[in-house]
Amino acid sequence: MKNQMTVIFDAVSENEAFARNTVAAFCVALDPTVDQINDIKTAVSEAVTNSIVHAYPSGENNKITVVTTIDDESVHIVVSDEGIGIDNIENAMQPFYTTKPEQERSGMGFTVMESFMDELKVEPNTPNGTVVSMTKTIRGADWKKKKR
Ligand code: ATP
Ligand code: MG
Repeated sequence: MKNQMTVIFDAVSENEAFARNTVAAFCVALDPTVDQINDIKTAVSEAVTNSIVHAYPSGENNKITVVTTIDDESVHIVVSDEGIGIDNIENAMQPFYTTKPEQERSGMGFTVMESFMDELKVEPNTPNGTVVSMTKTIRGADWKKKKR
């Protein structure tokens, strides 16, 4: 069975915790482990923070949309903005690459998303902005072992 939830909110840092906790609450239906929930929260936090920090330099039309879909086994999360997009996605995906070193960004956001989720796809320049899609299997072999 599939179940889907969409939230749309302003790209301001106050909403980062809201986004990660909302997605986590929705995923509880899958009965994830604490580690899995923490992985999901961290990945959502990185994706949403990117849209907040990078997508809207002029501060206009600053919306972020998060669509979360769960099925019997996994969670699929799509974080999209309508911002400036990413010029060089190959560079952007590299660990420690950041266009904002002066803001003490470490350039590890995409690397974290990649390692905490099972799949990561970034569409850097859609007509509307950036779309980050992530999937994590919840009820895999590890889950079955821990839940026994
Ligand atoms: P950190 O995530 O460690 O604070 P960071 O955000 O710079 O640093 P990444 O999250 O890996 O690092 O992103 C790499 C680069 O990709 C960013 O510096 C930025 O230039 C670009 N980027 C990422 N997401 C977006 C987005 N939604 N819109 C525009 N540019 C983006
Ligand atoms: Mg980042």
